[in-house]
Amino acid sequence: MQTLTTNRFKFGKGITLVDDAGTEYLDGVSGTFNLSLGYNHPHVVEKVQEQVGRLTHMSSTFTEPYVNEVLDQLTEHAPNGIDTGWMRDITGSTANECATKIAQKYTQATDIVSLFLSHHGQTQFATAISGNAFRRKHFPNSTAANSIHVPAPYCYRCPFNASRPNCGFQCIESIHDHLEYASSGSVACIIIEPILGNGGNIVPSEGYFKLLRKLCDEHGLLLIADEVQTGIGRTGYMFASERFDIQPDMITLAKGLGGIGVPVAAVLMQSRLDVLEKHEHSFTSGSNLISVTAAKSTLEVVSEPGFLDEVKLKGEILGDLLHELETKYGCIGEARGVGLMWGLEIVDEDGAPDVAKTNAVIDRAFADQHLILRGSRYGFGNVVKVRPSLTVTTDEIVTIVERLDAVLASVG
Ligand code: PMP
Repeated sequence: MQTLTTNRFKFGKGITLVDDAGTEYLDGVSGTFNLSLGYNHPHVVEKVQEQVGRLTHMSSTFTEPYVNEVLDQLTEHAPNGIDTGWMRDITGSTANECATKIAQKYTQATDIVSLFLSHHGQTQFATAISGNAFRRKHFPNSTAANSIHVPAPYCYRCPFNASRPNCGFQCIESIHDHLEYASSGSVACIIIEPILGNGGNIVPSEGYFKLLRKLCDEHGLLLIADEVQTGIGRTGYMFASERFDIQPDMITLAKGLGGIGVPVAAVLMQSRLDVLEKHEHSFTSGSNLISVTAAKSTLEVVSEPGFLDEVKLKGEILGDLLHELETKYGCIGEARGVGLMWGLEIVDEDGAPDVAKTNAVIDRAFADQHLILRGSRYGFGNVVKVRPSLTVTTDEIVTIVERLDAVLASVG
């Protein structure tokens, strides 16, 4: 397990954290993958501070005009006729619960399909629909009877021992079987992460999402893209759904939507799915004006002309540099990612997951190089994640990779 020293950090600037002693740590993972604009982006800080001075909260009965501005900003970029949304959540977990409630109410069906290795949150139901059984241990209500897990498109360790391009997409084919034999026959939706984030930065192969959409259409299921990690520019597109042409019916968002770490979440949907009554899903702090202002000002930055093109470019630079490390070090089984969302799969001489080395890389990066990285506790627990804020500079990308190179050289 990751054992970072608990420094007392005093402030953050850009993608850097500074501790009591004035020592600077470069954050290679945007906090908890949520600081899409770094620690102190001036535009978001200014707008949030201004809002705090004016009005922080009022009953959600009155926040609609503010919320609608954000939903307009979001749906402007959304695919597949998604033109409205719901913003009464402040966490990704409950945003996913909201989307699955909508799916159940709209379809009048019960079951939710999700992928092994997926992570959709930590409330009881979000845990139930997440594909990581260890999270459910001790929590019987997290084992929802109407939650069905199906194989993930994890090509590097294909659950069917097949390989692209001749695998026949058995991961998709097997979903048909699960729908027939493992479901109650009443299935509402499939929820997926476009890139399985906590599961190991798993990027599905070209063609996967087209088949998944086809399967949903054949079975009358709604498709929910959980973009809590991939949304708001992370892949170089506002939504990964755009990048992979996913054509979802709903998109859930949190993390990066708050720009500088302000908690806020949203569910975007086609208007036919706007079926919830307020009393069916809303929270005291949902749509509070600090969160809504953070989202609005973050979107103003991410929508600036050229911003996402730059993210794409920086993503290519980061990807090229990580691929160089993959060639240099045998312990990197695969470097995979899109945009500024990368993972290194750490393996032993036989290609088996090397969890000890993964943790050593993360610990030493922090202790020796003052570089903050995170590992994947899910799946096989052997993926080092590299996901700097979208505002990272090219020089900082080079520094992150140089420090990672030094760590890899030292762990052998
Ligand atoms: N979905 C995904 C893909 C996530 O990565 C997470 C959090 N790691 C969640 C949902 C839950 O979000 P939150 O922690 O804001 O509840």
